Amino acid sequence: MRPNSKKTISKKRTVKKESPAPKTHLLQKVNNLPKLPGVYLMKNTAGNVIYIGKAASLRKRVKSYFAAAPRDSRTLSRFLVPKVRDVDFIVTNSEKEALILENTLIKKHKPKYNINLKDDKTYYSLKVNIRHKYPRLLLTRSVKHDKSLYFGPYSSSAAVRDTITLLRGIFKLRTCSDSQLKNRARACLNYQINQCSAPCMRYISADEYKSAVDSVVLFLNGDTASLIRNLTKRMKEFSDTMDFEAAARIRDQIKAIKVTVEKQRVVTHKKGQNNDIIGAYKEDDDISVTVINVRGGSIMGLKNHVFLINRLSMSEVVSSFIKQYYHKEREIPREVLISNDIDDLQLIVGWLSERRGNGVGIRVPSKGQSKRIVEMALENAKQSLLNKRKLKDDINNKLQLVKEKLHLKNVPRIIECYDISNISGKLAVGSKVVLKDGAFDKGGYRRYRIKIKTEADDYGMMYEVLQRRLVRIEADGERPDLLLIDGGKGHLGVARRVLADLDIKGVDVVSLAKERRQRNGVKEERVYIPNQKNPIVISGLGAAFNILITLRDEAHRFAITYHKKVRGKSAIASIFDSIKGIGPKKKGLILAHINSLTEITKENLEQLKGLTNGDIANILEEVKGK
Ligand code: SF4
Repeated sequence: MRPNSKKTISKKRTVKKESPAPKTHLLQKVNNLPKLPGVYLMKNTAGNVIYIGKAASLRKRVKSYFAAAPRDSRTLSRFLVPKVRDVDFIVTNSEKEALILENTLIKKHKPKYNINLKDDKTYYSLKVNIRHKYPRLLLTRSVKHDKSLYFGPYSSSAAVRDTITLLRGIFKLRTCSDSQLKNRARACLNYQINQCSAPCMRYISADEYKSAVDSVVLFLNGDTASLIRNLTKRMKEFSDTMDFEAAARIRDQIKAIKVTVEKQRVVTHKKGQNNDIIGAYKEDDDISVTVINVRGGSIMGLKNHVFLINRLSMSEVVSSFIKQYYHKEREIPREVLISNDIDDLQLIVGWLSERRGNGVGIRVPSKGQSKRIVEMALENAKQSLLNKRKLKDDINNKLQLVKEKLHLKNVPRIIECYDISNISGKLAVGSKVVLKDGAFDKGGYRRYRIKIKTEADDYGMMYEVLQRRLVRIEADGERPDLLLIDGGKGHLGVARRVLADLDIKGVDVVSLAKERRQRNGVKEERVYIPNQKNPIVISGLGAAFNILITLRDEAHRFAITYHKKVRGKSAIASIFDSIKGIGPKKKGLILAHINSLTEITKENLEQLKGLTNGDIANILEEVKGK
């Protein structure tokens, strides 16, 4: 009998986390894996998950990696297997469940050897809430099962906003909220500027408004031929009944639609065709995937995704990409065209069809218009990969130059920059910002509320911040190559002392002093490096050194933003000191809930348990007076 007969995904089997397991122990474990569907998680010596896969039979699949003469000759296996020290697994009821779970776990663990499609907030969809009597056309990032109509996704927010403006201008749908619609005493400015037909005042009948909504839907479905036919018919009807004003209005709508449609590039002869096209291009170990969204026969979106240094095969990349791309709430078209065959085709088709509630086809086209658009996706994937590699080479050259000029031990691929912000030692905060391969890594940003109480001790504060960060250098994941300290020689000394106190070796450290203006007005940036009395003037050394200046400015901005927030809280705190009935406990409660004086309202104070009506009245009165 199967160990888990429940509908839901079974619980994780107990697999104890161990220190680096000997290979024999690992092989023993692999040989004992269940012959059931599930997800396996491969871990390295440090216990980090480095690869996640799914299988119809866990034992068979995982064993294939470790066999003496592996049947699995993929590049991935060669790189992966020597690094694996442990394998965890989760049994599921079916391979389809395993597929869903695999996606969720990849998102959670972000394993080094999987592709990880970042949460992309840049895709937009258009929503028409057709269940309302007077629907609106809205821009949204999420597609929900709420019986509204969704169109998209569109990858260019500018283009989609233009579409909204155009459609609102032509068909004059309302933009106000449902409650505004209900409660308006008179039409708003949108009506005055001819952008809304004012259903709030019933200046348009429900039937007429509905036909405007139908026109919008036809347009967004790409069925402009039917739309123009319908509008022409209506124009004639108005004209026959001598309503020339209405007829002229429709004539203008037809004209505007024709102009817009001509601007769109039609890629298929099949009217109203909806499909996504996925093209993957590989060069060395780098892979790029382009998705083109065709809706109503026109390209509505195109997006490139580049995965540098990836050991997966093309089949695995496209298969993984499809799973992650459609794992999100996203419109699934009837057909997905792909550039190469994939693993698990039938499984993925079944899963997508289930999600769509209707049949979905996935195929590699061999001729005609479909093949041409796949080639277009491939060309885009190739160009975006070449572009990314060029950028990478460029940044590598710059970082190499920084290494040479500043006599560093490492190429500074990961730079952490630190700054302190305070007013005469009061309300002191520290910031850490990170630059990884030339790009800000916001996930690595940290802010520190400084605890030492000595006033205006910049060095002491810097020591505290660095100590608090570096004591966790192993636990926090990737080690920095370079610490960049905002400050002069003294600050550099402090950073070196922290490294020595914590016995951290192999991390470079320099400080970037405040910009100095020379007598001739030229600004000068200076870097202090260890064991050298005079700073190196980096102004004029080229764009490579702008990396350091930009990073220092970012740390400064981040510290100041936090400092202002702390100051704001402190100002609110001092107000509460004078209010009768608000002791330290209630004060703490309010401060944890409210960031600025402008945020204080009766409603949000009422949500705070422990505040009486009297407290609320006192607070509001006090705040009003400020
Ligand atoms: S005119 Fe009326 S219906 Fe139109 S947006 Fe303004 S308030 Fe809403």
